[in-house]
Amino acid sequence: DQLISQIAAGEVVERPSAVVKELLENALDAGATQITVKLEQGGVKRICITDNGRGIPPDQMPLALARHATSKIASLAELENVGTLGFRGEALASIASVAQLTLTSRTADAAHAWEISGSHASTVAPSSGAPGTTIDVLDLYFNTPARRKFLKTEQTEFGHCAEVVRRVALSRPDVSFSLSHNGKTVDHWTVNDIAKRSAQILGNEFSGARLPIEAAAGPLKLNGFIGLPTASKARADGQYFYVNGRFVRDKLLMHAVRAAYEDVLHGDRYPSYVISLELDPALVDVNVHPSKIEVRFRDSRAVHQFVFHAVTRTLAQTSA
Ligand code: ADP
Ligand code: MG
Repeated sequence: DQLISQIAAGEVVERPSAVVKELLENALDAGATQITVKLEQGGVKRICITDNGRGIPPDQMPLALARHATSKIASLAELENVGTLGFRGEALASIASVAQLTLTSRTADAAHAWEISGSHASTVAPSSGAPGTTIDVLDLYFNTPARRKFLKTEQTEFGHCAEVVRRVALSRPDVSFSLSHNGKTVDHWTVNDIAKRSAQILGNEFSGARLPIEAAAGPLKLNGFIGLPTASKARADGQYFYVNGRFVRDKLLMHAVRAAYEDVLHGDRYPSYVISLELDPALVDVNVHPSKIEVRFRDSRAVHQFVFHAVTRTLAQTSA
């Protein structure tokens, strides 16, 4: 079972930033409005995430660490209607199989917190802490040295982690986030609206003008901000696309935006944008890849056209 978990961990937890992503999604699924991320040595030494969400009752804490025990998907049909971010019920078990994990949690009505370590046969013990959950992950890949060897430098791994935090923070301006590395606060975003949150996070990327974008057609709804690239801008940074609240890096969607920019502005320029697409969950499959970053649309042509036209219209307003 430990071995199966470690193999599964290879998919779920390919590097520290993947751990950060899973833990952030769990915190959001728990309704947190305040999330603190503390990293040490690029996350390899330590990833500690605290939230003020609903917490886990002590009798359910061992289950939360058990593989597949908690999958939120009760049936195949439900796979098509994934409302929550996490749904495979294996992230914590996988992380616990390749690191020293401690889970501390307290529900709103509990007199105190409880904690449990991720090792086998560990039991729940009284602990202290405010309502919410802390997951402390130490020494990632301590028992899988082969995987540890694939890690890049501390700064590179930290960069990936910070990018994951930015992606999530851009999708949830209603939640405050703070990020620290090696004891120093790197980022802190208070609760805001999306305009301010995106300006805070993408201030530099949006050096040119920033245009609000909004469109709706049938089951498709889109909103966000797109930037006017400056002439020097040729980096593929600052591109954030969300589908039903999930960050995706999807070729079809990126192409639709790029094509619109080329059409209206001409030239091969990389735009910055934060675009959020909402549609009926039954019209999109988010289960394409374990990291859930690509999606498959039932009608990809319609989605491509919709995004292309929305961006084209918005850009055309300025050049008209
Ligand atoms: P999944 O999110 O796919 O259900 P995970 O392994 O990520 O599986 O989490 C297992 C379970 O532990 C979750 O379903 C949830 O019930 C609980 N859990 C994990 N993290 C938190 C958290 N931060 N706050 C409250 N509950 C949590
Ligand atoms: Mg999860």
